[in-house]
Amino acid sequence: MSFDAEAKMQFLFALRSKGVTDSKVLNAMERIDRGAFVQGYFADRAYEDMPLPIACGQTISQPSVVGLMTQALNVGPRDKVLEIGTGSGYQAAILSQLARRVYTVDRHRRLVREARAVFDQMELSNITAFTADGSHGLPDQAPFDRIILTAAAEDPPGPLLAQLKIGGIMVVPVGQSDAVQHLIRVTRTQTGLDYDELRPVRFVPLVEGLGKE
Ligand code: SAH
Repeated sequence: MSFDAEAKMQFLFALRSKGVTDSKVLNAMERIDRGAFVQGYFADRAYEDMPLPIACGQTISQPSVVGLMTQALNVGPRDKVLEIGTGSGYQAAILSQLARRVYTVDRHRRLVREARAVFDQMELSNITAFTADGSHGLPDQAPFDRIILTAAAEDPPGPLLAQLKIGGIMVVPVGQSDAVQHLIRVTRTQTGLDYDELRPVRFVPLVEGLGKE
């Protein structure tokens, strides 16, 4: 199914009704066709507001959650952003519309390979995708204006906090994998870190080391 006018209208309506109200975020989500990131059996459900299975036993997040996290990250046009958990590449593609440069990493090389193919096809040339254990961040590219994790950590990982600029923002789901997780926003100030708890969420866990495929 293509991102036709009717599906697009319903998709954007669902986002707004769940609290995605920032016009820059909505515009980005209108431009990036989620259908390009969902292959196979679930392809015809790409415009529904639900998470869907992707390769390697992972999930593409629910669009309204992508919107709310992107909104919380408050990305500016000069920002260098790091995403941990490339998955399908959908969140990175949304960020690419708002930021100067997006680095995204996943522990599964297959997901990185497939996401890169979609970025190329959409000509999203400001995204760089790496296969790596993202809990160490990307020291060579640090520091970052914004960091987003799309896998749940028990605590915001120290190495990632260390790679955040002063004034920088991190959005991270925090909690045990099967228990309630909360979306947390961490802001690095001159003197330390400020924490905001945003909402309950459910994400796959951040796992150490590289995946088998
Ligand atoms: N942002 C994605 C959804 C991500 S699902 C999208 O828009 O589709 C979470 C992803 O985090 C999975 O692909 C998983 O492989 C990845 N992940 C889990 N632990 C990781 C780690 N330590 N380093 C990098 N990626 C990790």
